[in-house]
Amino acid sequence: MSFAEDGTRADASGLDAVEPSGPSAIPRPEDVDAAWCLRFLRAIRDVSFATIGADGLPSVRVIDVMAVTEGRLYFLAPRGKEFHADVMRERFVAVVGQTPDLRTCRLRGPVVRPEDDAQRALVDRLFELNPGMEVIYPGESRYICDVFFIEEGEGEYFDLGQKPVFRKPFRLGGLPACERGTFLITDACIGCGTCAEKCPERCIAPGAPYKIDQSHCLRCGICLETCPAQAVTRR
Ligand code: SF4
Ligand code: SF4
Repeated sequence: MSFAEDGTRADASGLDAVEPSGPSAIPRPEDVDAAWCLRFLRAIRDVSFATIGADGLPSVRVIDVMAVTEGRLYFLAPRGKEFHADVMRERFVAVVGQTPDLRTCRLRGPVVRPEDDAQRALVDRLFELNPGMEVIYPGESRYICDVFFIEEGEGEYFDLGQKPVFRKPFRLGGLPACERGTFLITDACIGCGTCAEKCPERCIAPGAPYKIDQSHCLRCGICLETCPAQAVTRR
């Protein structure tokens, strides 16, 4: 961790941003964790940030990931933009980035805004790490930007380009990985094999009950819809 540990006071001189994971590199499954996924998002850099607007409806914008450390993802928001207002009001964002070869990483979690007296130095540090920002916000105009970061949340790396697909959930902030949205086979399974036969990823193994390999599941729901015993549930 490069910042002070109190979460909101941040020393920009300590922002030793980690190198991004190259999106060109296919990771080994065991290497995919929260820190790796942050680097992956930084490598993609231009990612989509979703917020809830003042009208209660969702909005999405492409925002640069300005830096990541082992446990934080940093971004900027100029104070005049609705995106800034959304972030300040909701203090929560959802982020997703995808490479051309269909590898996706998503993350959602609460947003922290470092205190006012830390902002200018942080802006300077992020501009130093991202020299192109000077073209957009030359000179003092850079200080219209506020710095935010995410250091808690849940997300998932998903490679749709592999066959079978590969996915791995993660938690940022040390909590167990989230398994929301997964399909499970219960003890109501009668072992007919229909789900394994229909599954496009061939990721259901025989057993009592049959078992889904979650790391290769597409989450398409075919097993749920075709099971004659209603033995498949969604978590
Ligand atoms: S289709 Fe349903 S009952 Fe048949 S093996 Fe799959 S989970 Fe079990
Ligand atoms: S949700 Fe789709 S990919 Fe996943 S186990 Fe069921 S049929 Fe297979």
